[in-house]
Amino acid sequence: MSVKHSLERRVTGQIQSALPMGAAGAKLAPALDRLLGRVIADPKRSGSLFGLGEVFLVKAALYLTGVRLEPSAYEGVGTIHKEQVGVYQFDFNLGVDKQQPLPAELALPHGLHVPVNVNNAAPFSLSRKKGVLYLKVNGMRLFPVEYEPRPKFYSQKTSDGVEMWKLAQHRLGDELMVTYNTYCHTLKGGNQCRFCALNSNTPLDGLRNGCFIQTPRQIAEIAAAAYGEGVVKRLEITGGILPRRAEIDFILEAGKAIKSALGTTSIPNGHALLAAPNDLSQIDALKEAGWEYVFFNLEVWDAHFFRAYCPGKEALVGREHWLKALDYAAKVFGPGNVRCILIAGLEPLQSYLEGAEYLTAHNIFCDPAPWMPMPGSQLEGHSSPSAQWHIDLLVKTLDLWERSGLPLDTIAKDGWLAFNDLARMRLEVRQQNLPESDLRYKLSILGDLRV
Ligand code: SF4
Repeated sequence: MSVKHSLERRVTGQIQSALPMGAAGAKLAPALDRLLGRVIADPKRSGSLFGLGEVFLVKAALYLTGVRLEPSAYEGVGTIHKEQVGVYQFDFNLGVDKQQPLPAELALPHGLHVPVNVNNAAPFSLSRKKGVLYLKVNGMRLFPVEYEPRPKFYSQKTSDGVEMWKLAQHRLGDELMVTYNTYCHTLKGGNQCRFCALNSNTPLDGLRNGCFIQTPRQIAEIAAAAYGEGVVKRLEITGGILPRRAEIDFILEAGKAIKSALGTTSIPNGHALLAAPNDLSQIDALKEAGWEYVFFNLEVWDAHFFRAYCPGKEALVGREHWLKALDYAAKVFGPGNVRCILIAGLEPLQSYLEGAEYLTAHNIFCDPAPWMPMPGSQLEGHSSPSAQWHIDLLVKTLDLWERSGLPLDTIAKDGWLAFNDLARMRLEVRQQNLPESDLRYKLSILGDLRV
């Protein structure tokens, strides 16, 4: 057996076994196998072999399997490179030893990004040599990558002396994320959403006023520092449902404080992510407080599945009122400024798409976030559907948005999730008139994982 052939077998065998995740890796593993086989056959061309479509496949595999950090991969994390902190609702690394700070996000070629999910058994690894960070698979270099730089405001303190990184975090390239607590009142009676891990986390810096990690003033100071530094173009505030819906007054106060600190009439791309308010007049108040758009995440479309997965949301707000609030908000904030995440993978494709159609027809943007079973959630240890199932759903959702006139460039530029990446690929296909044989066409138009 030739050296090349034996190396191919070693790599492909390990990719296949590294992507079990239930059925999640089916089809993705063979696609990566073929891609890596080509790299092995002609390593000098590896740079040109990794176009946007190919890097998207690697990103999907990294997301599913995680990555091993060799000792050199920790260099500069927490000083030059941004560390992973304050990820409360979707912390893949809950339970991972964090004595040394973990890197937060990995910047891949073609502007793609992926959170660093640590898995010591993964075939992917990261190591640094002469200052360059390399992504490897089974020891074979794929391409150079880099972590996100640590923003300067992480080294600053609020006027009352708290380190800013403990209170709000930089993520997704240009967003400041403020999580106001790690408690959700749905926990009472065991009614927390089955996929959510918020209640399994604890705040980095304790609580203030009984319920909150920050004060509105601290949030405003951090926002001024982060926007002022130029590393932030969006701001998200989120957290759990509090007794007597106390989170809504807090979000209103925070909005007003941020606006005043920035000297603007609204918070640039500022958005509040909260359970639909029971009192609809609070939706008007959210807009007046400076929030430019809102997320009221139903998470699951089908009424029966909603009750099963989100019993607390059903009990405290109710699906019927939730839909009313979404419609009301679409009138207050305007088309495209109301969003409702439907988690892809918790219900059948058909009911998901019914929900996506309903929301789109009501001028509400449904964010298709692929479900990854979170450590600390009640569904820990379960499996998401296959990569092929997810890509089918994303492509059908993109079809729906295109039919309804939603501009692809808006979806493409807004974040690093798989649907943003696919929208970007589809945009390239349209603009460059790419043929069906191009991987970007296969992935973003046909939803075909065959390389
Ligand atoms: S309402 Fe559900 S998703 Fe939101 S924080 Fe509470 S448990 Fe988590």
